[in-house]
This record gives sequence, C-alpha cells and structure tokens, in this order.
Amino acid sequence: MARIVLIEDDVDIRRLVADALSNSGHDVDSAGKALEGLELAVKDHPDLVIMDLGLPDVDGTELLRMIRAVSEVPVVVITARGEDDVVVSTLDAGADDYLVKPFSVSQLEARVRAVLRRRESGVEGDRLSVGELTLSPGPREAFLGNQALDLTPKEFDLLRVLMERTGQVVSKRELLAEVWREPYGGSDHTVDVHLSWLRSKLGETASDPRYLVTVHGVGVKLVSPDK
Ligand code: CA
Repeated sequence: MARIVLIEDDVDIRRLVADALSNSGHDVDSAGKALEGLELAVKDHPDLVIMDLGLPDVDGTELLRMIRAVSEVPVVVITARGEDDVVVSTLDAGADDYLVKPFSVSQLEARVRAVLRRRESGVEGDRLSVGELTLSPGPREAFLGNQALDLTPKEFDLLRVLMERTGQVVSKRELLAEVWREPYGGSDHTVDVHLSWLRSKLGETASDPRYLVTVHGVGVKLVSPDK
C-alpha cells in the first residue's frame, strides 16, 4: 500500500483512477487544480504523485518543477496523445514515468508498481534511524515516531550530519563546514541557534537532552535516548 496524490482536473478520469488505486489498497488523495495538488504533495508526504499535464491554473511542467523544488517524491505524468516533445521535456523536468491518454487501469497500476519498486530499492537503503528518529535524505523527510518533523533546510542538514555520526562528538567547526559550507568562516552562534531550534522541534532542551547532547568545549553528539 502506498500514499498517492492524484492531480487531475477531469472529474471522470480523476474518479476512475482514484477508485482503481483505492481498490488496489492504496491511500489516495486527489486534487483538481495544480496548487491544491502541490499542497497535498507537500503535506501528505506521499510515496507517489500522479499528475495530469493539462491543468487549469498552472502549466503541468511548471507544477512538476515546483514539486521537484520541494520534494524527491516519484512523479508519474499523464499526457494527451501525440505530445512526444512534451513527454521528453517532462522527463527532463524530473518526472519518473508517464502515461498517454487514454490508458487502461491495468497500465496505470503497472506503472505505479514499477515506480514504487524503484523507489524502495533506492531510498530505503539510505534511511537513517536512531531511537525513534528516522531521516530519509532522498525525499528530505524526518520523523520522530510517527510525527513528521517540520524542519528548515539547515535544521534538516544539521540533523542528517549528526545522525550520520551517531554517538560521535561533532565540533561546531565541522558543522559550519558541512552544513553551512563555511569551513573557515561562520560563527559558533549560528550553530548554537540552529541547535536550539532543532532541540525544540525534537521536544527537548540543552539542560534536559534526549538526542542532542552538548559536550562542552568540544561540540555536540547525537545519541539514542535508550543508551
Ligand atoms: Ca486535463
């Protein structure tokens, strides 16, 4: 079962596709407009997005770029017949696969299975997990238990670097180099501020840490709270 966001303005096709995928056991959320769909693609943390290229509010290729700017989620594009050049440009813009209208439900399901299979073999292996914390670098998602963490890009990178070196003390200089790309410049204060934001999103404080332990005068290390 996968979480799927479907963006299609044609009501009949939308209903047909949503019903077929639901009957196959998927959890489907659908939208008739591009911006509505973009919002679902961000909020739902779907495993797959299926989107029509001809949408009323935003050009489909543009929508694809907008999705790609914020997410690595696999995208299957639905196009009208005879748009070969459009197919090439959408694949270039980051689509994983495409379907030409009219298509059968079984064709669609075969594409969905293929894309999900590819995703599983790629991203799952990279997932980092410490205690209840999990982080997937590909889709840039982090969870504490079942709760998705709403992290800024820098907070995400900070957490990723610390999780990659779980149990080791990482200096603020190393963090400035790896997260801020400032191997020589930058300020410890920047690291301190972002650490404190990250701590509050993890529901902990510097004086009562669970995952993020400060080692005074050296740096910070991420630990599993069980240890
Ligand atoms: Ca359409």
